Amino acid sequence: MSESAVEVDAHRCEAIGFCVQVAPTVFTLVDGPPVSVASRELSDDEVDAVAEAQDLCPAQAILLRG
Ligand code: SF4
Repeated sequence: MSESAVEVDAHRCEAIGFCVQVAPTVFTLVDGPPVSVASRELSDDEVDAVAEAQDLCPAQAILLRG
């Protein structure tokens, strides 16, 4: 497990949903932006998926700490 914390900048997120596709256990798209983020510790695989989502996010809205 990792103590990395993920945040989505609500002002930047455009609800395009790439993050939901690559990390569906972390990000959830409800009704428009911003996506919601699971607030718990992430597995190492999830941290890797979040890093990939960061690369894919066209709005550069995903922040990964830790
Ligand atoms: S990929 Fe970026 S802009 Fe798209 S829903 Fe995720 S955080 Fe928002």
